[in-house]
Formats: sequence, structure tokens, C-alpha cells
Amino acid sequence: MMARLLVLLALMLGLAVLGGLLAGWPGALGGAVAAAVVLILRDSTRLIRLQAWLRRLQLAQMDEMADILAHQEPPRGGMVGEVADRFARLLKLYLRGRQDSQLRLQEMLSAIQASPNGVILLDPEGRIEWCNSTAAQHLGLDAARDLKQYVANLIRDPAFHAYNAAGDFSAEVLVAGRASTPVRPVRLSLQLHPYGEGRRLLLSRDVTLIEQAEAMRRDFVANVSHEMRTPLTVLAGFVETMQTLDLSPQETRRYLDLMSVQSERMQTLVSDLLTLSRLEGSPLPGMSDWVDVRVLMAQCELDARALSSYMGRIEHTMKFEQDQASQLCGIASELQSAFSNLVSNAVRYTPASGRIEVSWRLLEDGRGEFSVSDTGPGISAEHLPRLTERFYRVDRSRSRETGGTGLGLAIVKHVLQRHGAVLNIQSEVGQGSRFAILVPAARVRSGLPEDQLKAA
Ligand code: ADP
Repeated sequence: MMARLLVLLALMLGLAVLGGLLAGWPGALGGAVAAAVVLILRDSTRLIRLQAWLRRLQLAQMDEMADILAHQEPPRGGMVGEVADRFARLLKLYLRGRQDSQLRLQEMLSAIQASPNGVILLDPEGRIEWCNSTAAQHLGLDAARDLKQYVANLIRDPAFHAYNAAGDFSAEVLVAGRASTPVRPVRLSLQLHPYGEGRRLLLSRDVTLIEQAEAMRRDFVANVSHEMRTPLTVLAGFVETMQTLDLSPQETRRYLDLMSVQSERMQTLVSDLLTLSRLEGSPLPGMSDWVDVRVLMAQCELDARALSSYMGRIEHTMKFEQDQASQLCGIASELQSAFSNLVSNAVRYTPASGRIEVSWRLLEDGRGEFSVSDTGPGISAEHLPRLTERFYRVDRSRSRETGGTGLGLAIVKHVLQRHGAVLNIQSEVGQGSRFAILVPAARVRSGLPEDQLKAA
């Protein structure tokens, strides 16, 4: 700046001296004035150019400013040039900072966009400023169309209105999702979180599965309690009778027998519950342990004949057959439990003189099929899809009479799922039923185990 002033003074002095030499003092004055006019004119043109450049910047959009700075240079030279240059540098710094923060904002919004939860940003009046696609899908919003709309007008669930009006956002509120139907209910958890100056963040979470699991847990506990309470009540009644009445030895014997039936029933229930919880908690079966199907079939036959004679149904006709020596890959105890459960159901539900056929065969596609057919009462079609649910019974009293817990087929289903196998049920009321386990080809091989081959 100082240097420029010195140049200006030197120019005026130079021209004044030149003017003085040529035309005396009027010449010196004229020279000084001429120098000043030249300099003023030069700076004025620079100022006009600077003004035009600033106006272009002022009228430009944010993203065009960088383009103007890069391609349309501000006036150079003199004090005006220096001011313009400093201003351009400051503007560049500002634009770079702004670009950086916009980039960060975009990255943050993309992260929120990827969230499995719905996020809606609300302004202090409760209007939507931004929402991610999950929130749009949960609540049936359109991220572009519904911008600046009042969220209370878009979420019409009365529970949300009450929650919003109450102003206590310490807990969540449950509402029906937009895609909810009576057959496929969708439950959403919504919670408002105040932030900034009067703004709010609305989070939505799909809790349908959690709610279903919670309902299942409640049903399960209620069912188990109910199943336990019945034999316990009977037992307590007998104990009280024996304590208060003077019973004959025969009566005592009869009561003890009845009590033993009830305690056996509780034992079976507890044992089935433990089996289920073990199945849920243990690691999946590997692909290295092979079980001889003959061993499984032999145990089924032993159990079935023992159960049949225990139930006084020695008239049951039973047939066990296996088309060829085979092995199954999996956990022997689990596979045995699944096979035996189907056989014991057939024995329990088939009336005396009925026929039960158990067979193992290899299918053409490499899978193995274990099937149990009976000439029992059969099951009507509407019950079939629910048979493997815990505690689901077609005929409650018939199941209890025969010592059923309502957990047998649930155990079968669990074991099969763990081994990649499926249960196929065919049944006709009055004709009988056929329960078949289809084991995937990867878990079946024909032939005897190696140690038995060597011995043969
Ligand atoms: P449960 O202990 O009551 O037998 P399961 O889970 O083994 O329980 O079977 C569920 C229901 O399926 C039974 O209560 C019974 O009504 C029906 N069921 C199962 N197997 C047969 C069968 N072979 N014949 C007729 N009904 C059957």
C-alpha cells in the first residue's frame, strides 16, 4: 500500500517537475493534475470492473460461484486489484469449507438412509424436513411429496396423536404399520427425541417379530403352567384325601397308583420341555457322524411294541421294513427321538386291532424317507398346518388319556429343521394318517457302517 502511494507521489512529482521545466509553475501544476487524473481514471475503470464482477457473483447460485472464481478473474493491479484479490481468496476459502460440510452432511444422511430403523427430522412446528426410505416405507410416506407436511396429519394412529399431544417422549408408542393387515399385522414402535432448538427426531422401528416372540413366550408360559397345574391339582387332592381319611390298604394302593400316573405325566412333560430347550440351545449337527438306520428302526420297533402292550393294545398289527442298508448323518439321539415320536403317536392314536406300518426307503433322487402309516382316526385338513405347534392337539382329552404332552411333533419339527429334513403329513378322517420324514440326499448314504462291513 505504502509503495503504491510512493509510486503515485513520485509520478505526480515527476510530471510536475517535467511540466515546471517546460512551462514554469503552471506547467508544474498541470503535470501534477494530469498525473492525478490518469491515476483516478485507471482506478475508476478497475472499480467499475470490480463492481461488475461482484454483481455476477451476487446473482450466481452457490455452485456457479466457484466457476466464476475459476474462469472470470477479478480486476488486477492497484489498490482495487488487491482488494478484489483478497476478497476472491476469502470467498474461495468459504466455498471450500461449505463444500466440505455439505459433503459431510451428505455422508451422514446416507448413513441414516442405510439404517434399518426409520428416521424423520421434524422442524419446531412438527413438519417433516427429511425422512429416510425406511421411515417412508414404515409409515407410507413419500420422502419428496410429504416434505414440509405436518407429521401429525400423516400418521393418523390415535395412539400417536395422544403421545404427541402428551409431550412426554421418555417412552415409545406402538402403532400399526402402513402395510398392516388383519392377516399380517405389522407393529411399529415410534419415539420422538427432542434436539436443537425445538426440533424433534422421530424414530420408527419394526417390532412385529419381537411382539410375536413375546406373545409366543407368554402363550408358552401359560401353556406350561396349565399343563403342570392339572396333574399337580390332582396330586394335591389325593395327598389331602390320604391325610384326612382313614383308607383301607386297597384304597391306599389305588390312590398311590393314580398318583403315580400323574407324577409320570409331569415327568414326561418336563422331559419333553428339556428336550426342546436342549434342541434350541445346542450346536447344529455336523456332517461327520453317521447312524445306521437299522439301529434306529430296531429301537422304534422295541419302543412301539412295549408301548402297545403297556396300553393293552397287543392286537395292533405292526410291520417294520427297510428296503436297503443305509446310514444317516446327524445326531443319533435326536434322530431316534424324531423317529420314535412318530411311531409312538401311531401306537397311541390307533385303536386296538388297527394296523401300523413303519418303513425306510431310499428315493430315486437320493433322499431317504422314513414313514409311519396307521389306520387310526385320521386328522381333518384344517388341523394339519398347526400340528407341529407346541401344545397343539386335535383332541385334548384323547392326547392326555394316552400320556401325550402336545410337544411330540414340535420336537420332531425341531430335530428335522436342524438336519435339513422335512415332515410330510397325509391324513384323512376315518382312514388313518401317514407321517413321513424326508432326509436330504447329503445326509443319506446306502450301505453298512465301515466297522460292520469289515466284520462281515
Ligand atoms: P401329543 O403328545 O398330544 O400326541 P404331538 O405333538 O405328538 O402331541 O401331536 C399333536 C397332535 O397331533 C396330537 O394331539 C394328535 O391330536 C395329533 N396326532 C399326532 N399323531 C397322530 C396320529 N398318528 N393319528 C391321529 N392324530 C395324531
